[in-house]
This record gives sequence, structure tokens and C-alpha cells, in this order.
Amino acid sequence: MSTPLMGQMMEVPLLVSSLLKHAERYHGDTEIVSRTVEGGIHRYTYADAGRRSRQLANALKRIGVGRGDRVATLAWNGYRHFELYYAISGSGAVVHTINPRLFPEQIAWIVNHAEDRTLCFDLTFAPLVEKLAPQCPTVKQWVVMTDRAHMPELKIPNLICYEDWLEAESDEFEWPEFDEKSAACLCYTSGTTGNPKGALYSHRSTILHAYAICLPDVMNVSARDCILPVVPMFHVSAWTLPYAAPLVGAKIVFPGAALDGASLHELFESEGVTFSAGVPTVWQGLLQHLQNNKLKLSTLKRCVIGGSACPPALMKTFESDYGVKIHHAWGMTELSPLGTFNTLKNKHLKLPADEQFEIETKQGRPPFGIDLKIVDADGRSLPRDGKAFGDLMVRGGWVISGYYKGDKDPLSDGWFPTGDVGTLDPDGYLQITDRSKDVIKSGGEWISSIDLENVACEHPAVAQAAVIGAYHPKWDERPLLIVVKKQGQDVSRDEIMQLFPGKVAKWWIPDDVVFADELPMTATGKISKLRLREQFKEHKLPDA
Ligand code: AMP
Repeated sequence: MSTPLMGQMMEVPLLVSSLLKHAERYHGDTEIVSRTVEGGIHRYTYADAGRRSRQLANALKRIGVGRGDRVATLAWNGYRHFELYYAISGSGAVVHTINPRLFPEQIAWIVNHAEDRTLCFDLTFAPLVEKLAPQCPTVKQWVVMTDRAHMPELKIPNLICYEDWLEAESDEFEWPEFDEKSAACLCYTSGTTGNPKGALYSHRSTILHAYAICLPDVMNVSARDCILPVVPMFHVSAWTLPYAAPLVGAKIVFPGAALDGASLHELFESEGVTFSAGVPTVWQGLLQHLQNNKLKLSTLKRCVIGGSACPPALMKTFESDYGVKIHHAWGMTELSPLGTFNTLKNKHLKLPADEQFEIETKQGRPPFGIDLKIVDADGRSLPRDGKAFGDLMVRGGWVISGYYKGDKDPLSDGWFPTGDVGTLDPDGYLQITDRSKDVIKSGGEWISSIDLENVACEHPAVAQAAVIGAYHPKWDERPLLIVVKKQGQDVSRDEIMQLFPGKVAKWWIPDDVVFADELPMTATGKISKLRLREQFKEHKLPDA
């Protein structure tokens, strides 16, 4: 074989620190605004963030944090968390973001599994950390992410105050260069069944993913945007917006712990937010606040909703009543997280609005860098005709190749099995039918719970809807619809049942509707079907 002719280009490793260096130099006066847990708004710039991250990198070095060491965070979206992202990964260690909504035993398990040696936490989580500390022997240093004035009295050994720790250091620090395939960030799946599993992102995968999400057919973010990530930095790096924003030089607004409709609306308006991202329940909360108080959104133009299926009714209301374009997206922890994003193609622009909308309700198509296929039970590829549904498999440069310290290879022939079931149409748009454990198996056929939930959400008095399979002696399972009404509004069982004929196959129509005050949620803001199934285990369907 002849020797290949090599290109003659510079080798500049794709490192997370380069994002902050870029933002500091070329967007130095662009703001980062945070609602703090201590109260009030904190405001500074990329130049300030760069300087303080270098001080923090020196502080980490002083306590002996070395290459590859895991440094954990239990924190909301805020400027100190942002500094930790860059200082930890930038100096060659690994930022391990922990979801504080998990059960304390799960958190302790995760800290021990990751062998975190330092753990930094927001004041909110001080009581949780007091309980955790005795169970986490690997952690040698605990850091309260606050200033001296707000330092609490805690029974935790080796406790330091973030601001004191940082202020003692110089801001002279050269971000080291190393292999771009080194680990940058560790994020555990929520582990609804079995123990959580660690997805260990590299610097390279993080930068490729951040590049991809900025593309015009994806989140389309730029230096003209003001981004408010509602998605938490403790779960899949806030969909990597804290990396994408410095990449393009966008202003960032961090909402802290206040994720209710009123607090979000106030920040959207006061900071001129143009783009935001979150799970459906957050937008449902915001919508209720807007409707109850007759408010408008004057600067917000685009939002991405993902993490769970976005009800089409929610998308429609935001667009028609508030002028906000909602983009549906699908992803998962193992994909950093983005797999697909919904934007139309040139040929769709000529279609009538209702046909365009039908496409837009799907989970979207993959950007360059991600490949998808659906397969049957024997692993054979199914047609991309928008009808056949099967197990969704994925490949790409920001998809995990294994779990951190995992003993089993999760891949099948080089593809990652997502555990989701869906269809792919000839244009590449993915539609998720269900999580494979959540599909309702009625008489050997499958019923999509998401399709039924979307129909129920069309009723203006419905705040949330969930469909689960309830036991049926003849059909094994039949759909049971659980509905939460909007505050101060009413709707009857019959009115809900009348929504279905003509919209779904007759045999898909739920056998029963029950009303609930609220739905159980998972640590990642999704409706917990597992807990609903337990709750309605004994439910007797009308004709069963
Ligand atoms: P997580 O790893 O916790 O982010 O959860 C990933 C899972 O959330 C996926 O495997 C899907 O089951 C679900 N999911 C994410 N986005 C969507 C979406 N747009 N529609 C339906 N399910 C989704």
C-alpha cells in the first residue's frame, strides 16, 4: 500500500479551556448574569469569568487536584458552577456533575463509584452534604460555593469557603495542552432501574457536540443571542449550553434555583433573553403563569424542548399566543445529550402551515455527527418509511462507547441501543413512540403512550397527561389515562374521552381516565411512569 500524503495543518487539540480563552479574548465584555442562591442578581463578563477560572485552577492545584481526578459539583446553574466547569476540565481534571434530586443513598453511591476527591456545593445543599459526608470517604475536601459572609456552621470536616479559596490565588495560569481524548466531564444516568451509570465525555466529544448544537439547523445560537438554560448544569451539562455560549460569544443568564414561571418570566424580560431550553414541565409551568397573569414575552424568540415528548398543544400555544418558536429535540445522557433537533428543510417551506406543524411535532432529524437506525427484535434494520417502528440505535462522535468502570460492553455491532422505540421517515425525522419499557402491549400489539398523551393535552383545561398500561385480563394491558387539570379549570371524564375518536385508532382509545392532583416526577424532570404503574397497580378498568 502506498504511504498516504498527510495534510500540513496545525494540530490544535479540541480542549474545553479553549472555549473560555476564545470568549475572554473576543467577547470579553459580554455578560454572564446569575440569580444567586444567597439572593439577588450577580453580573459579570467573560473576561471576569476567565480571570476567576484561572484563580480557581491555581486553587485546585494547591489542594492537590491532578490530571484525571474527579471533582464533583452539587449546584444550580450559576456563575460559580460555570467557573468550576472550566477550571476543573481546563486543568485536566474531570468535572463530575451530580443531580441533587436523586435520593441521598444514590448520591453517596455515585460519589463512591466516581471516587470524587473534592466536592463543591451550593448553600442550598448544605443539609444534604452534612448527611452525605460520613458516607463518602474518598472526598478529602468539601467546598461551599459562597462567600465568607454567607458561610454556614456545618459539621463537615475539611470544609472551605469558595471565595476565600479562590481569592488567595493569582490569576496567572497557563491552561495546559493535553490529549483531546482525555475525560472532561462525568455525568451519571438517573438509574430508574438498577444503579446509575456514568457517561464520561471527552474534551473532543464536548467540543464537537458544542459546535453541532450551534448550527443553524440545530439551536442556531450566535453572539447576538442571550441564552437562558433552564436545563440544569447538574444533568448532561445543561445540554452543553455552558460550552456553546462561549463558543459563539452569547450572553448567558443563569436562573439559579428559581425555576418557577414567575421567576423565569422576570429574568426573560429583565435580561432580554432570546433563546432558552428546558423539559416540557418547565414550559407548562411558565405557560400557566403567563396565562393566569395575562403576561407577554417581549424578547424570547426560540426555545428547545426535549427530555420528554413535547405535547403539540404546548408548541402551538407558545407560537400563536406568544410568538415563540418551539423546537422539539431528542437526546439522552449517553449522547451528551443531543441526538435530533427539529427544523424544517427547504422543500417543506412550500407546505401549508398544518403540514409543516405535523413535521415539527416529531423529535427532529440528526445533525451531522450522529447516525440513527431502527431495528426489529433480531437486530435487522427496519425501513425508513415513517411507519415501521422499532428499537432506536445510534452512532456518533459524542455517543458513549462504554460506561465509566462498566464491566459490560453496551454497544451492539458498534451501535448504541437507546432503549427508545420510534419511527424514522424518508427525510430522516425521528418520531419517538415510547421508552421501550413504557409501550403499552395490548393483545400483542403496541400502543404509543406519547400519542395518547398528546391528544389529551389538546384540551385547554389539561395541564399534564400520562398514559400507562393497566392490567387487563383479556388484553394483558390497556391504556389508562391520568390527567392533572390546570389550576381553577374543570373538565370531565367524558369530555376527555371525546377527544380521541378520529385522532387515533379505535383500539388505542384509553379504557379509563382518572384525575390526579399531581404526577410523580423523576430526578430529571420527567413523569415517572414507573411510579405511576406502581400507584395504579390495583386499578380496575371499567370492562375488565
Ligand atoms: P436522560 O438520559 O435522563 O436525559 O433521558 C433520556 C431519555 O429521555 C431518552 O432515552 C428518551 O426516552 C427520553 N426523551 C428525551 N427527549 C425526548 C423527546 N423529545 N421525546 C420523547 N422522549 C424523550
